[in-house]
Amino acid sequence: MSNTVLTVTKEIIYKMKEHYKSAITNQNPPGSIFVAKPNGCTITAYNSGKVLFQGNGASTEAGKWSADADTHNRSKSNKTTATKKKSAAVNTGRYAPPPNIGQLSIIGSDEVGTGDYFGPITVTAAYVSNDKIELLKELGVKDSKDLNDTQITKIAQQIIPIVPHSLLILRNEKYNELEQSGMNQGKLKAMLHNQAISKVLTRVKSENKVDGILIDQFCQPEVFFNYLKGKSIPWKSGENIYFSTKAEGIHIAVAAASIIARYAFVKEFDKLSKMTGFELPKGAGPKVDQKAAEFIKKYGEAALTKVAKLHFANTDKAKRLIK
Ligand code: MG
Repeated sequence: MSNTVLTVTKEIIYKMKEHYKSAITNQNPPGSIFVAKPNGCTITAYNSGKVLFQGNGASTEAGKWSADADTHNRSKSNKTTATKKKSAAVNTGRYAPPPNIGQLSIIGSDEVGTGDYFGPITVTAAYVSNDKIELLKELGVKDSKDLNDTQITKIAQQIIPIVPHSLLILRNEKYNELEQSGMNQGKLKAMLHNQAISKVLTRVKSENKVDGILIDQFCQPEVFFNYLKGKSIPWKSGENIYFSTKAEGIHIAVAAASIIARYAFVKEFDKLSKMTGFELPKGAGPKVDQKAAEFIKKYGEAALTKVAKLHFANTDKAKRLIK
């Protein structure tokens, strides 16, 4: 439980009232403009301009407005906002991360391998409490796109024992089976994120504070939840949920998740290369077509299902190369 007070202008109070309109109560304490109870947090806005945030999620809800508030936090909040702008994150309405998200305890999730013809999809959700953020920075955790495979391996091995996480590997054979049964890649990803997040949340929730869940966005949040229609989403109603593109730059939990996912992907990829005797290329370019053609010549087309994502255009291109 925590309490936060912000002082804002009337204009911001009416913005808040609009923002929380679905959670407004009919309580009316003396001097108040409204009382809202979103996400287990009680927000009371007063005529004086003071807004009181109480209970679970108070710091998160307050964080959404801290940039508008007249407090000593102002410069800090503005800095966070500026950093966010620089990383060109896409704002996703009600799922937009609060400006102070970088300082919160977050479960982040990300996936790897979706654009690679060869190899699996790996998805990781990782929990990073705010007291571990500095340590992870020191260990070199950052956007995995700025790290090579050797650095990824080294950092992953250091963080795996200290970061509670769930790693899921969807190998090619199973991927192709699901894809052929009519699931598109977006749905597969949404299902894996859901599973990984659920597992981590169950593991850490009883002993740790979870301020929110941040998903590296690959589709609109509404589409994401639509993919999961009919599935159990244990974290949907009880947690603060945020989506953002380039989320590795917004909270280090996503960067950690991304590093663990890439580490697993690289390991699986190396295994496939050893197993097939081919130095398999990453990505989905012309080199991949060439290698897939060689693979088919050696092992036959049916064997591709064990090493590649068959629905990619590379399959047809490889077949054409053989003719
Ligand atoms: Mg991603």
